[in-house]
Amino acid sequence: MASAAVEADMKELIKSIIETEGPLPMDRYMALCLGHPKLGYYMNRDPFGALGDFTTAPEISQIFGEMIGIWCVAAWEAIGSPDPFLLVELGPGRGTLMQDVLRTTSRMAEFQAAARVHMVETSPVLRKLQQEKLGETVTWHDSIESLPQEPMIFVANEFFDALPVRQIVKRGNAFFERCVGLQDGLLTLVDVPAPRFNFESDGVQEISPVSHAIAMELGARIQALGGAGLVIDYGHLKTGVGDTVQALKNHKPCGILEFPGESDLTAHVDFDALDYGFTQGGAAALPPMTQGAFLKAMGLEQRLTALATKLEGKAQTDFTAGARRLVDDKEMGQLFKVIAVAQAQRQPVYPFEGT
Ligand code: SAH
Repeated sequence: MASAAVEADMKELIKSIIETEGPLPMDRYMALCLGHPKLGYYMNRDPFGALGDFTTAPEISQIFGEMIGIWCVAAWEAIGSPDPFLLVELGPGRGTLMQDVLRTTSRMAEFQAAARVHMVETSPVLRKLQQEKLGETVTWHDSIESLPQEPMIFVANEFFDALPVRQIVKRGNAFFERCVGLQDGLLTLVDVPAPRFNFESDGVQEISPVSHAIAMELGARIQALGGAGLVIDYGHLKTGVGDTVQALKNHKPCGILEFPGESDLTAHVDFDALDYGFTQGGAAALPPMTQGAFLKAMGLEQRLTALATKLEGKAQTDFTAGARRLVDDKEMGQLFKVIAVAQAQRQPVYPFEGT
């Protein structure tokens, strides 16, 4: 897996870019570390599970994908059951979520007959894993721009947290942009004087132009062509002050400059900003719910009871623990939020309230 050579090359590459261009804004640094075609974190590994760096909800419990599958069918019916429609996943990882969605909806013959599965995935390694799981019936895209112009239901779990953010720092009346620079041959954070922003309180404010552009494009397509979408991620409901960029390696936090290209690098998702992006695209962003409330509204408890009674002993305990982890307040239930986007005239979409 992790090779020292890749890390060394990535560090050297970043240093040489800084030497010629000057300090790199945080979003450029993150984009290079995660997405560089050869050395980027996602480009040459499977980062999930015990042997990787982090674990996600679909890898924890099959009930996650099942509940999302039920949501997709309900949303498809709510928007008038378009046939055909695109069933889109952004950043599908190992393909587990889509596999669970397709299994859960396998008896909904009309839904499945109408669905065209499209995935937006930049990593060749993960595309291969997705292909092994789901076969050739899927169409892959590097970005949302190449998706066909058709109605769509999209799902994005832990996708937006992987998109780069810029960090603007306010200290009194002075503004800076947090960048990655070089000092004595080592990567270091530097605050470079920046134009004035209109922030109230001192501290770091994050903006993600990439996330905004994607949310706007999704919102515009849904409004023009019909559809609905679901974003699940960890983050905050109101734009606020705080440095949320973090690195994980082998399930443990590490410095964001320590292992460029070799550690996962994420930022908390600003749901307020996503709402703004979808709305600016023309669609309606429905008031967010916590992951716990969303999964319970979709029937997680009933499904858990039904499945757990078929198991015994350790298998039953483990299965129950996995599902509980998704919804319990102290685990993923509160930290993770869910926001839905819909055509302004076709809402609300269960279980979200309308705008
Ligand atoms: N949804 C999955 C994986 C989350 S990890 C799960 O819940 O398990 C983030 C995923 O987004 C990975 O598949 C990664 O390769 C993909 N990704 C990261 N940046 C991307 C980008 N800019 N465009 C498309 N996919 C991206």
